[in-house]
Amino acid sequence: MANTETVLCTDLDRTVIPNGVQPESPEARPRLRRFAARPESTLVYVTGRHKALLEAAIRDYDLPIPDYAIGDVGTTIYQVMGGEWRPWRAWSDEIAPDWRGYDGEAIAGLLANLDDLRLQEPEKQNDFKLSFYAPVGTRPEPLLAEIRERLDRHRIRASLIWSVDEAADSGLLDVLPAAANKLHAIRFLMRKKGFNETQTVFSGDSGNDLEVLVSGLQAVLVRNAPDDIREEAMEKVAMAGYPDRLYIARGGFLGMNGNYAAGVLEGLAHFLPHVAEWLEPG
Ligand SMILES: [Mg+2]
Repeated sequence: MANTETVLCTDLDRTVIPNGVQPESPEARPRLRRFAARPESTLVYVTGRHKALLEAAIRDYDLPIPDYAIGDVGTTIYQVMGGEWRPWRAWSDEIAPDWRGYDGEAIAGLLANLDDLRLQEPEKQNDFKLSFYAPVGTRPEPLLAEIRERLDRHRIRASLIWSVDEAADSGLLDVLPAAANKLHAIRFLMRKKGFNETQTVFSGDSGNDLEVLVSGLQAVLVRNAPDDIREEAMEKVAMAGYPDRLYIARGGFLGMNGNYAAGVLEGLAHFLPHVAEWLEPG
């Protein structure tokens, strides 16, 4: 069934959470809260954070409670109702076939004794997310090739996401079902809830948002995004033939600077102008 909600899907860190070096306009988050308080709005957080860290962010930064949250790097979708966070079973069913009956723990067994990989804390693991630490000097190519080979033997389809946490001086590896990513989770939510492309906007700031930013969905890059991400995103939507599906926040909207939530709202109102009048008190 189609509906008429205005749907904002947004990244958290350095997108609505002002945890970067650029300043935040003081009115940005109060206005985001007013948007979320409208009965006609649906708010979806899309983040790498797990549930406890998501709830901590909402508390620490006075963010609005979402209607849905895509967490754990796209492996979980929560439906938030009356303060209760329920993992959406239909999403687990959608991504489960990739792991062919194995869960995170069983896959950890297949990857035992590998190059000093160390399991991350239990709250960072779930049935469809297996996360490791690796020593910072680890060369990812041979490690990922060995993991790939072991998983292939069991015909497990997985994404291997390698990154380096500079601050903690540690390599990070996420093993996820191949189908579990932010873009697929957003499209799944839209399909199941009848949200169409004209009523939905995504916002983000960094490399892990790029796939959604250039997907052809209406998307917003906040002004505090790194220059190389801005250039790459603009180039990709231009090459794909839909440069107007990506809005780059520049500041000036309602006197705000375009960073973080100010940029999100600037872009949201660019695509869906009726939103602007929801942002003032009264
Ligand atoms: Mg971010």
